[in-house]
Amino acid sequence: MTENEKRIISLKRAEELKSRIKDYTMKKNSIKTGFTHSEMIKENKRRIMKVLNASEKEWDDWKWQLSNRITDVHTLAKILNLSDEEIHQIDMIGKKFRWAISPYYASLMDPDDPFCPVRRQAVPSIEEMVEAGEEDPMAEEFTSPVEGITRRYPDRLIVKVTNQCAMYCRHCQRRRCIGQKDLALPMAALRKCVEYIRNEEEIRDVLITGGDALLISQKNLEWLLSELHEIPHVEIIRIGTRTPVTMPQRITKELCDVLSKYPPIYLNTHFNHPMEITEDAKKATDMLCSAGVVLGNQAVLLKGINDDVHIMKKLNQELLKIRIRPYYIFHPKEVVGTAHFKVKVQKGMEIMEKLRGYTSGLAIPTYIINAPNGKGKTPILPNYILSWEENKIKLRNWEGEVFYYPN
Ligand SMILES: *Cc1c(COP(=O)(O)O)cnc(C)c1O
Repeated sequence: MTENEKRIISLKRAEELKSRIKDYTMKKNSIKTGFTHSEMIKENKRRIMKVLNASEKEWDDWKWQLSNRITDVHTLAKILNLSDEEIHQIDMIGKKFRWAISPYYASLMDPDDPFCPVRRQAVPSIEEMVEAGEEDPMAEEFTSPVEGITRRYPDRLIVKVTNQCAMYCRHCQRRRCIGQKDLALPMAALRKCVEYIRNEEEIRDVLITGGDALLISQKNLEWLLSELHEIPHVEIIRIGTRTPVTMPQRITKELCDVLSKYPPIYLNTHFNHPMEITEDAKKATDMLCSAGVVLGNQAVLLKGINDDVHIMKKLNQELLKIRIRPYYIFHPKEVVGTAHFKVKVQKGMEIMEKLRGYTSGLAIPTYIINAPNGKGKTPILPNYILSWEENKIKLRNWEGEVFYYPN
């Protein structure tokens, strides 16, 4: 075959490859992101600042954001266009399930769209009253050797340092812990957690979470990081926080200075929709990266928010642009008050099928079902092995082509 003939075949193949993602190419620019909607966000911010009588300096201060979380429906009604019925419902549901929204996160919401993916994650919905699911589907209460710790795996564990969050996700898996009050784990209990970890040599990975790990005081956080850092068998520290999404003001220079002192730190956050990826979020992730923190994302598959092949692909690609590596997509759990977010496992499989091969491997997280009763994260993957034969395996590739591979 001549060089020219080879080139013609390659060009034809390139056309074929382009056609594989034509549906996405046509759709992707119409998917909203925090960048494409920066004007709307700015306008919302102006309106919210006026309602809360805030200065620019206050807005940029995470302590102001936290103490000015929107928690009453009458303030919310000045920020979003709510019907009388919605106002009544939000008020009623709030008595059963707590809600609070940072002013920043509220500024990402389309004030006129009740189906806004940001609004649906934060504003209570009447559908939460559906009686289905469990309080504690992961049975965390039975895997807690010390107050504050959940140990479900051999070499790693989580420490829940507070129940507080900048915004209470309507799909939260730990709704039972949110209660009606903010509760940080007392220092004495935190000391016992560190003591437990010090005595368990198998523990090489400690995940600080909550609630939101970054909502404890800087002093307590630094104390905990330094204690863990000194334990020889603790190889890595992980932080679970949604603040880059819900309150990026939390990522301050002072915080980054602390984090940079205790490497290696891995920080996993929780973006669910490209609309959450904003200039402020990017500023926060840039600062974290400069502090040497390695960033990952754990999304939850949620009906009406991201249960769509194109939206999920866009989300993961946009995350890479702000230096966050997609880590997990969780199938939603059977938690009381979250039935309206449930999707079929087939939907998650369809999304995974349309990622592998179609986009960068870096943009492909692992799809996880949490086994009931805390039996662990279970990966779910479309099937690429069709059959096992004597000395070969029958496989199929991302395009559905079948082939044999010697074994
Ligand atoms: C998710 C989780 C971990 C971390 O799991 P990885 O798969 O290592 O990210 C550890 N402990 C508990 C209790 C968890 O729920």
